[in-house]
Formats: sequence, structure tokens, C-alpha cells
Amino acid sequence: MRQAVVGIDVGGTRIKSALVTPDGQVLAETVRETPDQVGARLGEVAADEVVELTASAGEAIDLLAVGVVVPGLVDDVAGVGVWSANLGWRDLDLRGRVAAHVDVPVAVGHDVRSGLLAEHRLGAAREADNVLFVPLGTGLASAILCRGQLVTGSLWTGEIGHVVVAPDGPLCACGQRGCLEALSSAGAIGRRWSEATGLVGDAEEVARRVEAGEPEARRIWQEAVDALASMLAPIVAGVGTELVLVGGGLVHAGDTLLAPLRTALRARLGGPEDVVVEAAALGARAGALGAATIALDLVGR
Ligand SMILES: [Zn+2]
Repeated sequence: MRQAVVGIDVGGTRIKSALVTPDGQVLAETVRETPDQVGARLGEVAADEVVELTASAGEAIDLLAVGVVVPGLVDDVAGVGVWSANLGWRDLDLRGRVAAHVDVPVAVGHDVRSGLLAEHRLGAAREADNVLFVPLGTGLASAILCRGQLVTGSLWTGEIGHVVVAPDGPLCACGQRGCLEALSSAGAIGRRWSEATGLVGDAEEVARRVEAGEPEARRIWQEAVDALASMLAPIVAGVGTELVLVGGGLVHAGDTLLAPLRTALRARLGGPEDVVVEAAALGARAGALGAATIALDLVGR
């Protein structure tokens, strides 16, 4: 029997899962839409993922553990989802709900912090110990690796999405104006462009129009880049980041995103710091592989 863990990344739009061996081999993956009221049904959802992944592995699986990662405020130790704006829960006993439906130990973590762990072990941050990871997706959060250790302070660690960067900026889902997430997340870029033009399109569409030189798309794109750089520069300077890893769906835009971000970041740093800005390697899989990573850590593998 092949030993493996299941990692489950519960996102605002999709649930991505992976069956991973202790040496990092991905045996099977699934992606599904996030159902309504996912918090209340999380145990059943996780059990379904385990059944589907182990059945599609093509060999008998000795399941060692399950890892679940979620956005928002997460108490990794207690296994509780303290708050998620996108998924609409407060103080949800994630570990308890999943453990009631699977027969193995359950690890719970934050999607972005766990994603950075996966990038550090398997992805684009293998050679770097001082890393700032920023996935741009439906929402926006960050994680910091400092001297090879994840920075975890309070529950708010890395939650930069609702820091106000433009007091007169667009309204955010949280009720404030000008949050970083309301300007620089993939969701915000698509929404702002649609509102400005009356056309339907997501951030990928905006990226294509930026490349085609369309002025409105370029204005919204540059505002997103400038807002992001103005948030990242003080973090880079403050903790001594060497590598900024940009992840999430928006990273498919490649240098359309990374080149202006490098320029904007260097313009704000100004001093002796030199920072490399690169695309994360694991892309949309970082969360699921991160969930597998914390599951492996939980059982000492
Ligand atoms: Zn906000």
C-alpha cells in the first residue's frame, strides 16, 4: 500500500485537493466549485474528496492524514476558522468537523501560509529563506518566511488585504474604502474594469487588454500594481525580504504583471535593498499542496 496524505484547499470560488506522497509526488488532484454553506458541510465535503482522490490513485492508498487550509483568520493550533469574509464563517471548528468524517489525524492551516511552505519545499522558493508570498486571487493575503521560518504572530499575520492604501479608493466588501484587496486582487481588477467600461470580463481579460494597449485597462492595472507595491515595499524593507513570490490566478499574466511590479517596488525601496520578484511555481495548486505539507508535518513525514 502506498502511503499518502490528502490536502484540501477551501477557497471562495473553488475547492482544490491533492493526494500527495511523503516524497512530494502528486498522485491525484480534483477541483470543484465551492458549495453554498461550505462551512456547515465541510466534514462531508472533505470525506468526498478523500474517497474520490484515493479511488482515482490507481493503487491502494494508506491514508496518513488530511490537511485542510482556508482563507481568513485561522487558529492553526486550535484548528478553528476564526473568521472568513469570503466563506462567511466565524469560529468554525474546522478540525472537529473534518475529523468526524475521516479516520486519520487532521491538520488545519491558513491557505497562504501553507502555500508558502509548499513553495519553499517544492516550488519557486526552494533556494530562498527570506520570502514574501502574495497570491492575487478572489482575495488578497500574504505570508512571510524569515530565515526559513514562517512568521506567525497574531491571528492577523499576513492579512494585508484590508489595509487601506487609498482612503478615497473603491469600496471594499468589508465596508471600508481603498483596501488593498479592493484595488489589487484579481477579483477587484476584473470588477473595476467591468464597472468602468460596462463590459463583462475578469482579470485575465484585463491583462489581455493591457497587452493590447487599451488605456482604461492600463489605468486600472497600473493602479493595482502601484497599490500592491506601496504595501509590499515597507514589508520588504522591514523584514529583509529577498524574494517576492507572486501567486494566484493573476500570475498567468507573467511579465505584464511582474515587470511593472518590479519597477514600482524598486522605485519605492530606493535604498540598498535588492529584491527579486518572481512568479510562484505551484500556481493555483499551492494551497492544496500546502495543505498536504501541513498534513505530512502533522504525522512527522
Ligand atoms: Zn476591505
